[in-house]
Amino acid sequence: MTLTLVDVTLTYPDGDGRLTALDQVSLDVPGGSLAAVVGPSGSGKSSLLAVAATLVTPDSGKTVVAGTETAGLSAADKAALRREHIGIVFQQPNLLPSLTAAEQLQVMAHLSRGPVRPARARALELLDAVGLADKADRRPHQLSGGQRQRVNIARALMNEPSLLLVDEPTSALDHERGAAVLDLLATLTRERSTATVLVTHDRAHLERMDRVAVMRDGRLT
Ligand code: ADP
Ligand code: MG
Repeated sequence: MTLTLVDVTLTYPDGDGRLTALDQVSLDVPGGSLAAVVGPSGSGKSSLLAVAATLVTPDSGKTVVAGTETAGLSAADKAALRREHIGIVFQQPNLLPSLTAAEQLQVMAHLSRGPVRPARARALELLDAVGLADKADRRPHQLSGGQRQRVNIARALMNEPSLLLVDEPTSALDHERGAAVLDLLATLTRERSTATVLVTHDRAHLERMDRVAVMRDGRLT
């Protein structure tokens, strides 16, 4: 599965005018590959992910996810596309305080159309894949920052997305933990053939990416 953006322009209202957050951005990320988008704060990285995630509708341009052009979709169709095909890892894990690591993942299965396999078994398998097999029954306050971020990533994989969008996953982590999270994302991308887009302002670890694009003032080079 490939993510394709063609000439995407996104503006936000800004006083009397408009602020251009994305300026004719084009990007092609084939399944099984990991693309990094780097750039300073405010350059448009999160906006790019929001468009790819169908959470924001751009002013113009084309977005194709899982073979579907998103422009003509209703809100309900976009929600279904997200549930079935897109995993989103937001910068803040936003885990539910009262749920264990395994339950954070199981919730995702309840939101989708019905489990292919029992949710608990899939949750445990994914926690194992992110190195947290022995932490499945811990609640967020019993996990370190890096472990919470790994639960966040495992949760995004719960519905077997073909597109994985990751926003600054290493910003709260030290160098070593950040490297481990990026290794994990690179491995999962290849094993699961997801098209993965990772945005970061951190230029460390970029050698692990298949492609690095630079965002500056809404333009991608
Ligand atoms: P980054 O993730 O690279 O820090 P963003 O995509 O969050 O950049 O923001 C790009 C630009 O768009 C910034 O100038 C930011 O202030 C502006 N912006 C982001 N979201 C909104 C919004 N919802 N409304 C208005 N302006 C926004
Ligand atoms: Mg951002």
